Amino acid sequence: MLISRTKQELRDFISGAKSQGKKVALVPTMGALHEGHISLLHEAKKHADILITTIFVNPTQFGPNEDFGRYPRQEEDDIALLKSNGCDAVFLPSVHEIYGDNFSTAIHVTRNADILCGAFRPGHFDGVALVVSKLLNIAGADVAVFGEKDYQQLYIIRQMAKDLNIPTEIIGAPTLRESTGLALSSRNKYLTPIEKEIASTLNVKMRDVLAAVKAGADIQSTLDDAKNQLVAGGFTKVDYIEIREGDNLEVTENLTNKSRIFAAAWIGKTRLIDNIPA
Ligand code: AMP
Repeated sequence: MLISRTKQELRDFISGAKSQGKKVALVPTMGALHEGHISLLHEAKKHADILITTIFVNPTQFGPNEDFGRYPRQEEDDIALLKSNGCDAVFLPSVHEIYGDNFSTAIHVTRNADILCGAFRPGHFDGVALVVSKLLNIAGADVAVFGEKDYQQLYIIRQMAKDLNIPTEIIGAPTLRESTGLALSSRNKYLTPIEKEIASTLNVKMRDVLAAVKAGADIQSTLDDAKNQLVAGGFTKVDYIEIREGDNLEVTENLTNKSRIFAAAWIGKTRLIDNIPA
């Protein structure tokens, strides 16, 4: 597996593969890899011959009081996991390699970036769109795979790639979960065993809400009750729990086959997100 820290080396590797007629897939991550990330590699393998993972904790998508500084970094473990899962190259750039000197260009996402997570993380999706556009441009991969775990991110990236004429095909992959239903996340590493038990009730509550609404309960009052119950059950704070349409992210008034429930909640200083189809 190639371990590359420079754009040039990565580009040379990818153009070498492409010149042999190979299809290339990119899996962008922030590292602290887990089986959820590996499931993206498995999805990528269905679409491409060569798998490239990027590991970059992108400063421009973190707010000033967020966890950029303490985000888990475990390069050696990540490299070993990627090697044992058939990854062909990992790109581990420095912040300077990505942003260089005098970086002066922004991307502003104008739709669906101020709802759900965007309402609580101002500028977050501008930073995501910026770094993902840069990674897609650096790699020039045939496909790039992103998790539905970050559904709003996947949605915004698809639109960004279309808007900016980036030819890489954007592919979504389902969320990998623990047996409790807890979505795998690098941020789960922050949780104590007791906090992890609390965390795993988020998904249970989301499923309960969907079951109640399907049985005829009012959507808004069921969501309001769920929010209170999550706090009563140990969550420090619930940023949101909402049901929206998966194809346009508009608020759902009546459940459809495209409806999804979305939630973000805090346990202490750890923010967890999840979403599932109705
Ligand atoms: P991150 O390193 O958290 O930025 O995530 C990198 C990619 O992995 C994103 O496309 C995420 O949506 C995806 N991802 C994170 N957690 C999971 C999971 N549990 N299952 C599937 N994909 C995931």
